[in-house]
Amino acid sequence: MCSMILHADLDAFYASVAQRDDPALRGRPVLVGSWVVMAASYEARAYGVRGGMGTAQARRLCPDALVVDPSWPAYMEAREAVFAVLRRSGATVEPASIDEAFLDIGDAVDVPAGRPPPAPAAAPPEAVEHAAAAPDAVERAARLAARLRRDVRAEVGLPLSIGVARTKVLAKIASRSAKPDGLFVVAPERELAYLHALPVEDVWGVGAATARKLHLAGVRTVGQAAAIGEPALMAIAGKAAGRYVHAIAHNRDHRPVRARRGRRSFGAQRALRRGPRTRAELTEAVTGLGERIAARMERKRRAGRTVVLRLRFGDYTRATRSRTLPRATADAAEIAAAGEELLAAALPLIERRGVTLVGLTVTNLAEKGDAGQLPLFEPP
Ligand SMILES: [Mg+2]
Repeated sequence: MCSMILHADLDAFYASVAQRDDPALRGRPVLVGSWVVMAASYEARAYGVRGGMGTAQARRLCPDALVVDPSWPAYMEAREAVFAVLRRSGATVEPASIDEAFLDIGDAVDVPAGRPPPAPAAAPPEAVEHAAAAPDAVERAARLAARLRRDVRAEVGLPLSIGVARTKVLAKIASRSAKPDGLFVVAPERELAYLHALPVEDVWGVGAATARKLHLAGVRTVGQAAAIGEPALMAIAGKAAGRYVHAIAHNRDHRPVRARRGRRSFGAQRALRRGPRTRAELTEAVTGLGERIAARMERKRRAGRTVVLRLRFGDYTRATRSRTLPRATADAAEIAAAGEELLAAALPLIERRGVTLVGLTVTNLAEKGDAGQLPLFEPP
């Protein structure tokens, strides 16, 4: 059996969203976060800036860096849009964090043969295995990965890197090899060689403390860990960590990809033809979206408190505006009214740049009670 797993991970997620939404930030070193760097664009990383660093230190390393505040509604909207593309593939999708997911391609996913996946420009050419040399499942997985990357880039405007392998741990490590904006396939016959060359600290699930213990014992690579027995690894790193490192070093990782559904939002969008739009046309679009969303929420018996308006402009920049209501709603008029209010606030931007797409999303969801009464609560 050869089930293939994809690990999809957006590159410098928060910084990429900022660059997507503000052309002035593109190609420039961008830091997100006021005190601590939550994300650094690749331009900033070239100066040695890393996530988790204090912004003061980051500014010393990269004095030209542009520092921007986080924009949670934009991140949530982008996340939902990316996950919608991933789920549409028919693969089993397990969200792993705000900007990553594991996918199991299974047998059900139909990936039409077409152009072979393009080799990533940034990764060394030997990084991508030739599909012709790999079994069919590897080829299908690589094709799906290439398609997902293209679709996320085209529809959401963000760079997505994907690692492909037979196990979760290898797929996770491979997606890092793929970055930035690349695809990295570990063919089954190359797994051990790839794994054994890795520094132990690069293995997903090996924390800093475990890595330190292994280093002190002279174990630097996964290959070195594979050469010692399980009892010795347990003596060095502790029981659980030793067992884990031993299993991974021998390429034993049977953790399955588990679908976690739990919808987080309801959204709809409408593309507009180019050219100036009247206020009435925009209002009509927002009203229509509110009705579509409310009907779907009603069917699923869900309600939500936060309404997000998404706009794409004539120059392909985007903006996201959100408003949180005092109570959850699934009412078309209430949703549209919130959307209309957000639209009014964004009118100067619309007049300047011209709008080509209007989207509305209701998020921060709650179950709809029988009487339509919803408890007031804050999102976690
Ligand atoms: Mg990421």
